[in-house]
Amino acid sequence: MLSFWERRSYLQYDYAVVGGGIVGLSTAAHLLEKEPHARVVVLERGLFPSGASTKNAGFACFGSLTELLSDLNTLGEDRMLALVEERYSGLKRLRERLGDSVIDYQNHGGYELIREPEEAALEQMDYINDLLKPLFPKPVFHPANEKIKEFGFHTPDLKGMVFNPYEGQIDTGKMMKALTRYVTHLGAVILTGSEVSHWEEMADQVVLGVENPVYEEPTLLHARRMVICTNAFSQQLLPEINLKPGRGVVLVTEPIPDLSFQGTFHYDEGYYYFRNFGRQVIFGGGRNLDIEVETSTEFIINERIRSVLEEHLREFILPGKQVEIADWWTGIMAFGDHKEPLFQPHSDKVLVAVRLGGMGVAIGSRLGDRAANWLLSPSLEMA
Ligand SMILES: Cc1cc2nc3c(=O)[nH]c(=O)nc-3n(C[C@H](O)[C@H](O)[C@H](O)COP(=O)(O)OP(=O)(O)OC[C@H]3O[C@@H](n4cnc5c(N)ncnc54)[C@H](O)[C@@H]3O)c2cc1C
Repeated sequence: MLSFWERRSYLQYDYAVVGGGIVGLSTAAHLLEKEPHARVVVLERGLFPSGASTKNAGFACFGSLTELLSDLNTLGEDRMLALVEERYSGLKRLRERLGDSVIDYQNHGGYELIREPEEAALEQMDYINDLLKPLFPKPVFHPANEKIKEFGFHTPDLKGMVFNPYEGQIDTGKMMKALTRYVTHLGAVILTGSEVSHWEEMADQVVLGVENPVYEEPTLLHARRMVICTNAFSQQLLPEINLKPGRGVVLVTEPIPDLSFQGTFHYDEGYYYFRNFGRQVIFGGGRNLDIEVETSTEFIINERIRSVLEEHLREFILPGKQVEIADWWTGIMAFGDHKEPLFQPHSDKVLVAVRLGGMGVAIGSRLGDRAANWLLSPSLEMA
């Protein structure tokens, strides 16, 4: 049973944000940057954000050469460029909002390892660099074959390596804690352990049913408008939504004293990725090995993928080195037929901002800005 005080102070909001990942928190941030007195609540079902935003690899990237070629295929030139612009400006927004030292942003550049099946991409490098000219002052992709030996990778089928000086890396945990602090400081109420199970639209408000461990019945919160930022978990609230969850497995090694590389690395069209974290290596991917099974929102590790990742780590990335694996985890992404996020008004009061794919660190802040602007706009665009 709720008290008089609880009813007065906790139940009424101007804007409700469902999901406390990077998109939900960025939406709350922009709402309050633009309307400082707005009553904003972020509802997060986990003890802390528990989807992809606290479980990713911390690449501050906007697409490798082969990924952009694939985007070009599915989207065409203009939409591919618009997507790169959104990702890159999203990264800038994140860095400016929180500060490079706070999120431990480091710019060691990014590399793509090109193996035989992707070799044709090398011939497209100049074409992609030309396309990207309006967005970047200098060419984005450069051949970097001379570094392969220096970094010590063992891949007999490696055909080349491509360097991107604009790619960086962050400390994901520090970034998410800083974003939470920022949003709280602006005045948002963040309620964790609060799962939204349903909602109902009334004439002038939305009523959200929130499950919590204390009461048997859901607690009902009221907001003028709401945004759903639940990414891979959105089917629970919107069964017809056009997205598929995709699980990602990641490992981190113990420190390696003679680690010979710094930077972020991609291969197999982005299905595998690794980076240094100080002297440790973070390595993940392999979803394409078992794509049906990995279309899941369950946080469990696929043993087949685990063993392939371990093999790649020891034989290809760190051959001949003494390597101990310190930890494994999984996180859940959301994918569609192409890589543009799903930004979709559901009604004049409810917006959906989800399907961030594997580059939400980059695009999350911009998607949050767009969501906040929609919620704040006086005449709302209908679905
Ligand atoms: C293993 C892995 C590695 C990745 N590596 C990178 C990378 O290096 N660089 C990069 O840019 N991107 C990376 N990504 C992708 C990036 O992390 C995501 O695109 C981004 O975090 C998505 O943010 P989001 O806020 O949309 O979703 P999420 O972070 O998943 O947030 C959604 C939140 O909604 C909550 N929620 C769900 N249902 C409800 C409900 N009913 N009620 C209340 N709360 C609910 C969830 O608990 C969750 O916290 C990676 C992802 C994974 C999984």
